[in-house]
Amino acid sequence: MSIKSQIESLRNELREHNYNYYVLDNPTISDYEFDLKLKELQALEEKHPEFFDANSPTQRVGGEVTKNFETVVHENRMYSLDNSYSKEDLQDWETRIKKLVDGDIQYTCELKYDGASMSLTYENGKLVKAVTRGDGFQGDNVTANVKTIKSVPLQLKGDYPPKFEIRGEIVLPFDGFNKMNEERIANGEEPYRNPRNTASGSLKLQDSSEVAKRPLECLLYSIKGEDVAVSTQFESLQKARDWGFKVPDAAKLVNSIDEVLEFIEYWDVHRHNLPYETDGVVVKVNSFQQQEELGYTAKAPRWAMAYKFKAEQVSTRLNSITYQVGRTGAITPVANLEPVELAGTTVKRASLHNADQIEKLDVRVGDEVYVEKGGEIIPKILGVDLSKRPKNSEPTQYITHCPECNTELVRQEGEAQHYCPNYNGCKPQVIGRIQHYISRKAMDIEGLGGETVALLVNAGLIKNYSDLYELTKEQVVPLERMAEKSADNLIEGIAQSVNIPFERVLYALGIRYVGETVAKKLAKHYKSIDAIANASQEDLVNVDEIGIKIAESVIDFFKSEQNINIIERLKGFGVQLEISAKELEGKTNILEGQSIVVSGVFESISRNELKKLIEDNGGKVSSSISSKTNFIVAGDNMGPSKKLKAEKLKIDIISEYDFLQKIN
Ligand code: AMP
Ligand code: ZN
Repeated sequence: MSIKSQIESLRNELREHNYNYYVLDNPTISDYEFDLKLKELQALEEKHPEFFDANSPTQRVGGEVTKNFETVVHENRMYSLDNSYSKEDLQDWETRIKKLVDGDIQYTCELKYDGASMSLTYENGKLVKAVTRGDGFQGDNVTANVKTIKSVPLQLKGDYPPKFEIRGEIVLPFDGFNKMNEERIANGEEPYRNPRNTASGSLKLQDSSEVAKRPLECLLYSIKGEDVAVSTQFESLQKARDWGFKVPDAAKLVNSIDEVLEFIEYWDVHRHNLPYETDGVVVKVNSFQQQEELGYTAKAPRWAMAYKFKAEQVSTRLNSITYQVGRTGAITPVANLEPVELAGTTVKRASLHNADQIEKLDVRVGDEVYVEKGGEIIPKILGVDLSKRPKNSEPTQYITHCPECNTELVRQEGEAQHYCPNYNGCKPQVIGRIQHYISRKAMDIEGLGGETVALLVNAGLIKNYSDLYELTKEQVVPLERMAEKSADNLIEGIAQSVNIPFERVLYALGIRYVGETVAKKLAKHYKSIDAIANASQEDLVNVDEIGIKIAESVIDFFKSEQNINIIERLKGFGVQLEISAKELEGKTNILEGQSIVVSGVFESISRNELKKLIEDNGGKVSSSISSKTNFIVAGDNMGPSKKLKAEKLKIDIISEYDFLQKIN
């Protein structure tokens, strides 16, 4: 088999597996086998850049960075929908449209997904453009980001028309949303408020590899195009499925408004079992012919109507407010409720977010409160039923001292949260920080779990993460559920952690706002903990993607003598507190701040090696030419349109040899 057909067959196979997994939810091979095949394809593509394909399954990991999203005018305007809230509203609508069209009307009922609307354009079966709704007339070109969403097909199958647009909704399923929030909380960041805003925010991230990490999905509901050979909405949904799109199968074809109402009643209950948020039902006249006759108002199609579900709410008694202390010392007030059934689960607790929220709602213990459940793990309190407020009720006094260590709380200018400043003496902070230190993405210490950390702290054996390295087997064995063997593993796991590279150690330290990505950026820029500790605030904010909030937090961390001592001890135990010589090999800052485009096929070096060289020398690889491009490294067969654009923008084009000279 030729290399070309080998690559093609791997791509097809991986596409099919992607489809089975992300569209059908029915994988037919293990993740491990999938990864092996993907790696095989990556290796082949790297060796043979002449067969590069922007729609290859390998391109899903992202990497393209967009600074400013290009504005694109929609070929077909993206309208809004009219809303209805009752049976009568829907009946009125039917009466209106029956006057405008002849014959019986069938309706397609679909769920109304709550996310970010999206228009995808396909040409010859390939995704060429993904644009946000924007104001309905024009939106942002977010193709690079949308390509990373696994349920968006990059290559269609079956009898698709040569060119068409398909619309849908980008959603973030509850599961993925909750996982992202757990991680944010673990990093000391504010959790996201709801899946919908997080989904639309994700589309506007500059770094597409960050988007690739988010478990977004794309649900499709509408096709537009000249040569689409179908005549009804319901058929078009089936067609879209055939071509490889994810179209939820809740959609139903019905013959009357009464049947529409049955559909609504059914989903008003069952929507709570769906993996993502829905806020209603969209009813569409099924026949395209009739749709055309009905046309549009200034704002919405006459042939469609959204029905909005009432958000599910109950009222119950607020029994008490308790306060939790997180790893970063952040205080979260929690409402403890009289247990009540809501959206299919028993609710006992609700989030109150912070002091401002309590004040705004004026919630008091003993109040009857309204509770609503959205996509969040824990439901929220919307307000108080004042008619039921007990006579002797008193406004809630927010705590002034830490419920765990009794230190006076602080609240910084402009921050919503109160903090316990007893950084090294407040138990939940101490335990939480060590738990973070040993966690998988940080030091990944095998043989040591979160519960054991709590036991070690409570037994007075450790007070901070540097104490881990002095633990002995004799100290550990007497702990609950600790056998000889597991004690050995624990000690060995801790000893092994001195091999973890600097960027992960930096993340493990648990500096507020220094998550994985920020840790990487700082490690790459400063190369050692000492350099970071000595950096000024102005210096820090000059680093890519480091804002004032992060800079202040870093400065604060190194102001503490205790932290400096802990770091000195870690150094003494051999923990990596600078980039190792091996990692540094061949790295410079020569290209710092430069945006470089790579185009064509090279002689002495592979495309990926070239990209790596650019990054190792501090530059940024960008896949499209813009006025921000500093120069282009071009090999043979540079695309003519790229060439034209480069000439127009007067951007230098250099050869691979010029480039190698530049960095040597
Ligand atoms: P609205 O923004 O309330 O005017 O509602 C219109 C929006 O509903 C559209 O722009 C879509 O993003 C969204 N939507 C969600 N599900 C559907 C669906 N099944 N059919 C049409 N629009 C939908
Ligand atoms: Zn405390």
